[in-house]
Amino acid sequence: MNLLTPPARSADGSFPEGALVAVLTAQPLDRLLDYKAPEGGCVPGSYVEVPLGPRTVIGVVWGPGRGDYDYARTRAVGRVLDLPPMPEEMRDFLERAGAYTLTPMHAMLRLATRAPGLGEDAGTVRLLVPGGPEPARMTDARRKVMDALGEFDGQPVTRAELSAAAGVTSSVIKGLLDAGTLAEVERPRDPPYAPLDPDRPGVELTEAQEHAAIDLRAKVRGGGYGTTLLKGVTGSGKTEVYLEAVAECLRRGRQALVLLPEIALTSEFVARVERRFGAKPAEWHSGVTGTERRRCFRRVAEGQARLVVGARSALFLPYADLGLVVVDEEHDPSYKQEDGVLYNARDMAVLRASHARAQVILASATPSLETWVNAKEGRYDRLVLGSRFGAGELPMMRAVDLRRERLEPSRWIGPTLAEAMRERLDRGEQSLVFLNRRGYAPVQVCRACGHQIGCHQCDARMVEHRFRKLLMCHQCGETRPMPAECPECGVEGKLAPVGPGVERMAEEVAERFPEARVAILSSDLYGSARQLKAEIEEIAKGAADIVIGTQLVAKGHNFPLLTLVGVIDADLGLQGSDLRAAERTFALMRQVAGRAGRMGAGGVALLQSAQPEHPVIKAILAGAEEDFWAAEAAERRAIGVPPYGRMAGIVVSSPEMHEAYGLAEEMARRDEPLRRAGAELWGPAAAPIALVRGRHRVRLLVKADRGVPIQAAVADWLSQFRWPATTRVSVDVDPQSFL
Ligand code: ADP
Ligand code: ZN
Repeated sequence: MNLLTPPARSADGSFPEGALVAVLTAQPLDRLLDYKAPEGGCVPGSYVEVPLGPRTVIGVVWGPGRGDYDYARTRAVGRVLDLPPMPEEMRDFLERAGAYTLTPMHAMLRLATRAPGLGEDAGTVRLLVPGGPEPARMTDARRKVMDALGEFDGQPVTRAELSAAAGVTSSVIKGLLDAGTLAEVERPRDPPYAPLDPDRPGVELTEAQEHAAIDLRAKVRGGGYGTTLLKGVTGSGKTEVYLEAVAECLRRGRQALVLLPEIALTSEFVARVERRFGAKPAEWHSGVTGTERRRCFRRVAEGQARLVVGARSALFLPYADLGLVVVDEEHDPSYKQEDGVLYNARDMAVLRASHARAQVILASATPSLETWVNAKEGRYDRLVLGSRFGAGELPMMRAVDLRRERLEPSRWIGPTLAEAMRERLDRGEQSLVFLNRRGYAPVQVCRACGHQIGCHQCDARMVEHRFRKLLMCHQCGETRPMPAECPECGVEGKLAPVGPGVERMAEEVAERFPEARVAILSSDLYGSARQLKAEIEEIAKGAADIVIGTQLVAKGHNFPLLTLVGVIDADLGLQGSDLRAAERTFALMRQVAGRAGRMGAGGVALLQSAQPEHPVIKAILAGAEEDFWAAEAAERRAIGVPPYGRMAGIVVSSPEMHEAYGLAEEMARRDEPLRRAGAELWGPAAAPIALVRGRHRVRLLVKADRGVPIQAAVADWLSQFRWPATTRVSVDVDPQSFL
């Protein structure tokens, strides 16, 4: 068909063949592109393949075309993909989220189409499965394949995925197929998920739990938008209660999403869903294969996948009818995406739900201050589960004043804590030693010249990882072998570790308690989430007497035999200028303490501190949560920072220091659009970490009253400037940290 003018849009809103449509793609263009609708037409939201230069890319029909280009030369949409169109609610959400985070729409669409092979037809796919015994000849490469297959733990995996995950060539995989160790089967793509049965009996709820469940069920039944803070100490049954809301959502025939802050927690949760609803939910996170992600995307779009458990990016799946979003451990800093699109999944969950007319449940023992204020001011409802389920008691919390403890040099466990640990060991109970620092020692100092070993590319010191025998930069991940001589003065044998990391704590524990079985829980010591999970399960069953852990242990794992938590340095998080230092320390200490005595063994938490009179430490000990939040809120209100004021952090970075400063200073000079809107600009100043991966970083901070539309003002202001491709400007609305 060759028309001279485009046909009009149909009355039902669809676009007949030849009509002009505007298509959004994930390519870095600053506008939508006009195409002609293909044979059979398309509708707003259709996923399409379009020609772009010499390539074919995936896009979404966003609305009618602009028609400001020669119609005869406008190219046609290649084809409409076999997927339900993206709902209007989701398109609106992406636009609002993009406007809120000042993210261009092509980047928002990339976030929303992150499943491989979306353009391919359903059909069948060839998958690898275990086929027989291990081959007689086991090479290193073959072992890697077997390990990778184990990692996938029964998930469907293609040849390409397996060879990429194992880091081997496809010939190794072929060898294993020939040997019969692997077999290849042809399966239909994207099989439906097994149905979940909401009416299987759950646990018998306590009165407080039932009260909360009744409230949440009614909200889900109501069918509109609302956000509820579900607050209760660890172990009070928040998960049991929100699963009741999930059950109600399933009964209504709508979809539910549960966000977890840590992939290591998913398998425990999936098992719980299976016990409760008789089948597994769909999973969406970085540990899931591409084949499985594609299945999830498609089945979510069709409305067939009814419960998704996932990481923050699961918010950007094209739900057909989203009825409930649960954000578990809503205070967790990992909900803030810190690179690429800078967004906070908790806030985006609320935004998405308000578009989808869904309910949000924010679950936490220690809510973020933002959520606490929203609940206080009535924007969110609030349900509180008072005590722990069953005999579980919150541990007794005590400070150990480090100024009065006699610590030997290079020792961090004081006599008080050591004695408490000794008692547990004698009684056959578990202790947890908490230190939020990975590695062996945070600094290496040369005792000859005083030099501290730093990263070549970052303004950071190299951390010693003794297990792995190397130095690592925690900013950029660069590693180096541990040198024998000082890189500065060349003297040999004078480098000494200063300060403790968890590996060094393990050394101290082993020396003090040689008979104890010691386990370290630190994210870098395990090759994979699966190994980590296996280790956690072993520990929970009693495989260790003393557990040494980083913040990883604070996140919702169950350790029933644990009766003592010793915090090595409760002051650690209070240093530095971070706005949220107090809030984070408060949450972290309470979470860590919550690991003790979960099953009613009467736990104790000892916090070693050099400043036990610090208001935050006092609030932690007293458990005076409401007072703590009220005081924190008052302080933030007084200085006009979030949630009482609005902020946006700008980082200008460049390999050339003068370029970064040049642009930042020009930005500061031309701040008229900000001032006009009622916002102030602070800076520029070197960022707290002034060099990362060889890029010099300069910070500016925009601050305004709560009522100021800060995004529009910042967009307006930034539109004045041009910068070379080597310079980057990142904008972080509602920054979590000031690094
Ligand atoms: P939270 O999410 O607040 O940490 P959970 O829901 O995980 O708490 O509950 C802690 C433990 O107590 C879980 O093993 C859970 O199954 C159990 N539990 C909670 N409430 C009940 C109940 N009413 N009956 C039986 N077991 C319960
Ligand atoms: Zn570095």
